[in-house]
Amino acid sequence: MGRTIWANGMVFDGTGADASVADIAVEEGRIVDIGVGLDGDESVDLSGHLVTPGLFDCHVHFMVDGDFSPTTYGETPFSMRFYLAAERMRRTLATGITTVREAGGSDLGVKEAQEKGLIEGPRMQISITMLSQTGGHGDGWHVCGAHMPMELDPYPGVPDNVVDGPDEMRRKVRELVRAGADVIKVATSGGVLSSRSDPQHAHFKADELDVLVAEATGAGRFVMAHAQATNGIKNAIRAGIRSIEHGIYLDDEAIQMMLDAGTYLVPTLVAPLGVLDAADQGIDLPQVIIDKARAAVDVHQESFRRAVEAGVTIAMGTDSGVMPHGNNLRELQLMADLGMSPTAVLESTTRIASELMGVDSTLGTIEVGKIADLVAFTGTDVDVTDLKPRVARVVQAGQEIAL
Ligand SMILES: [Zn+2]
Repeated sequence: MGRTIWANGMVFDGTGADASVADIAVEEGRIVDIGVGLDGDESVDLSGHLVTPGLFDCHVHFMVDGDFSPTTYGETPFSMRFYLAAERMRRTLATGITTVREAGGSDLGVKEAQEKGLIEGPRMQISITMLSQTGGHGDGWHVCGAHMPMELDPYPGVPDNVVDGPDEMRRKVRELVRAGADVIKVATSGGVLSSRSDPQHAHFKADELDVLVAEATGAGRFVMAHAQATNGIKNAIRAGIRSIEHGIYLDDEAIQMMLDAGTYLVPTLVAPLGVLDAADQGIDLPQVIIDKARAAVDVHQESFRRAVEAGVTIAMGTDSGVMPHGNNLRELQLMADLGMSPTAVLESTTRIASELMGVDSTLGTIEVGKIADLVAFTGTDVDVTDLKPRVARVVQAGQEIAL
């Protein structure tokens, strides 16, 4: 394949340095040189373009695509899910997202299919499912007595996700590691898209969370917590969980605890908006879920604004799947609208996300030695307003993706 020069772009390298015009030399999927006037076997002129590291989304669900109606699940053949996921992964990659954390739904086969090049998509860390207490955010039990089909239903690649008590928790984390989970996800509070759980109630007790974190840590895995309730957030931080997902009801004490512990916030600001969009489009959702989403929007944005002001570390994540995939970049504009500078937003979507996922030695910045994941946007402005139409080229491990 030789040496390719991505030439003359306005390079935002993600390290904290100001953007400046440079050439990037790529060989065998790696960045081998950065400078001016570099030579190669092939050169692609990126003058007039902003070039960033490949983008990250630290919270996606490829097994859903913005349609949560039981009818959709009920009428989708089991194996069809995987073909649908492949198309969503490609759609995500085409927006410049070259790496994701899959927050529940995709199993090891989905990850391996991408790794082996059978399907195109972001490289991924998978949580496989989301651990939930009985009656928690991931419990598919319904008051009619039926179990409604959902994206976290168990099958050979996905362990059952409802767990109660420290002993069960220990076994369950081990089952997830056995099944190939790169990260363990737990719901430490109720949520919006589960009709029987309250986003303002904490779920699991300290003894259960302590076992979870100890088992995950022993297996070299980080833990991510779906945490919306104030006490669910605090319990997660106390247990040493690495990232708070959503963080809707943050109070000052929770923010201080995150600062002290170095906990990341993955805000998913677009998620409640996506639920309301779905309701507007006539997707069949229970009224209780629509009401919870509406109640969450303002307080969520206010929590985020205060967290940013206080200096909490933010990593970009959208909860795509709750809304249709491919609109991930809408989150960046919301982050900027709510108080982050465009530079900070881009760092949260590249280097900081790579640090959260523990892959910053190979990804997240444009530096010599790193894997060549690059995005070229039309125009050289370091600005995150309406970015999607600006995506001009996406390069993953040195290979350009056909958009
Ligand atoms: Zn989610």
